[in-house]
Amino acid sequence: MQPLALKDWYETFNRNAGDLYPGRYTREYTSRLTDTARRVRELAQRKRSLIVAHNYQFPELQEIAVEVGDSLGLSRYVAKQTAPRVDFCGVWFMGETAKTIMGERAKVYMPDKPGCSLVDSIDRARLMHWKESFPDGVVISYVNTDAATKAISDYICTSRNAAQVLDHAAKANPGKRILFLPDKFLGSVSISQSEIVDPSLVDLYDGFCHVHAKIGETALEEAFDRYPEAELLIHPECGCASHCMARVMQGNSPYQKAFFLSTEGMVHHAARSGAREFIVGTEMGMVYRLRRRMPDKVFHPVSPEAVCEYMKMNTLEKLLDSLEQDRIEVTIEPETARKAQLAIDRMLSIQ
Ligand code: SF4
Repeated sequence: MQPLALKDWYETFNRNAGDLYPGRYTREYTSRLTDTARRVRELAQRKRSLIVAHNYQFPELQEIAVEVGDSLGLSRYVAKQTAPRVDFCGVWFMGETAKTIMGERAKVYMPDKPGCSLVDSIDRARLMHWKESFPDGVVISYVNTDAATKAISDYICTSRNAAQVLDHAAKANPGKRILFLPDKFLGSVSISQSEIVDPSLVDLYDGFCHVHAKIGETALEEAFDRYPEAELLIHPECGCASHCMARVMQGNSPYQKAFFLSTEGMVHHAARSGAREFIVGTEMGMVYRLRRRMPDKVFHPVSPEAVCEYMKMNTLEKLLDSLEQDRIEVTIEPETARKAQLAIDRMLSIQ
């Protein structure tokens, strides 16, 4: 994204995010935001900090960041940098992943300490019970998990490569049971996309993200009715995923225009597609990123309810406070970090 001059924030936010966050970007509030942004930039420069923001962050955080992306993309980005400090605008497990990858090379700070319903859906006792029941079993965890879960996982996957990791794990461990966690919707789509010969060997943990679970069949049908010409970009964590995948496989209209994509995949697909109009089936913040990146195309949020209140706990004001006070530093117990890194490395070696 081209850096946006502070004087253009009011107009740009209202044009690209006025419908996403109605009433938020008044002249007065946007003027306060730009004052805060100036101080954030000064302090980040003085402290040699890299500010990075997840796709689901508010527009002002996406604009102040040097890089915007998904959790793994951001971790890969910061891993290549030499800055001694990172201010990570996302939820806590993302800060943990960045810290795991960067180790002692940089300190990682966050504006707040937001949780995540998907991570909270993991019950440690149940997970350990499965491992005891299947001592040879293979655990595949989505990157959207806490460091402690990553540390007891054999593989980590993202929404981009989940089917590929499933295939690899099944071939490398013939006949063994596999537990895919925590997202049941992503797990079910990934099994459909994989080449696994015996899907009955895969146990799906029944966790979900409350934001994506709300994006159900009705929301899709209504969006297609409103925008019949649009392509649907759908995140595999969505509650409608299995229904949508079945329709896609049957080639039912209008589902031949539906594409299962990670958030980075949505950017690449929309940029290459001949279509001009898209329905975005994920959290609202992604719509802002797509609109800013491709101003000549039209992006509609699938539902006004697709807002993650955890992601939105981060604000520009809190980011300034974090830079001033160094309050919330991400730390991980070294043995947990070492084991989590092993699982992440195994995933990276598959790609
Ligand atoms: S949208 Fe929010 S609740 Fe859902 S996985 Fe992302 S951070 Fe967690």
